[in-house]
Amino acid sequence: MTLTTPLSAFVRDVPDFPKAGILFRDITPLLSHAEAFGEAVEAMAQPVLTLQPTHVLGLESRGFIFGSALAQKLGVGFVPARKPGKLPMPTHKEAYGLEYGSDALEIHTDAFGPGDRVLIVDDVMATGGTAAAAQRLVQKTGAQAVALTVFIELTSLPGREKVEGLPVFSVLRY
Ligand code: AMP
Repeated sequence: MTLTTPLSAFVRDVPDFPKAGILFRDITPLLSHAEAFGEAVEAMAQPVLTLQPTHVLGLESRGFIFGSALAQKLGVGFVPARKPGKLPMPTHKEAYGLEYGSDALEIHTDAFGPGDRVLIVDDVMATGGTAAAAQRLVQKTGAQAVALTVFIELTSLPGREKVEGLPVFSVLRY
């Protein structure tokens, strides 16, 4: 079925969440609508088809949702970048600052190796701090980060500058 409603209609704006001053872009209405979610994944896949990634790296936690759907669509494996202490085997770790707070991401040291081409996926890019940490994690393994794909890009923040040298693709821009 072809969707007649624009994808932006499936993103709910929630003011002052999770703290005052943040306009939270809630993608749960999109996820719960089969055609809208399918169209979003299709739109994320199209610009990266020619990059020939070998893996998708999904960033906890909403990056897992888009990332695993995208990995299946592209026919490549999925790797989760997780919050500290969640992965059972030896990890690389990178800390980063957030639009609201700070945190860190980890991947298994054997997740990728030289020759692997990694597509980094998240739901939203705000400051770019999370994506830049993911880019550094990929570098630590000797693999190459080929692009960052997000569903939503907040263009009022300098996210693209944080991931210098990495092509960035987004479906919706606010
Ligand atoms: P950043 O590191 O600042 O680019 O933040 C990106 C991460 O924080 C993503 O994983 C998003 O899920 C989340 N995030 C940051 N800002 C927002 C926002 N305004 N609405 C929804 N999610 C956000």
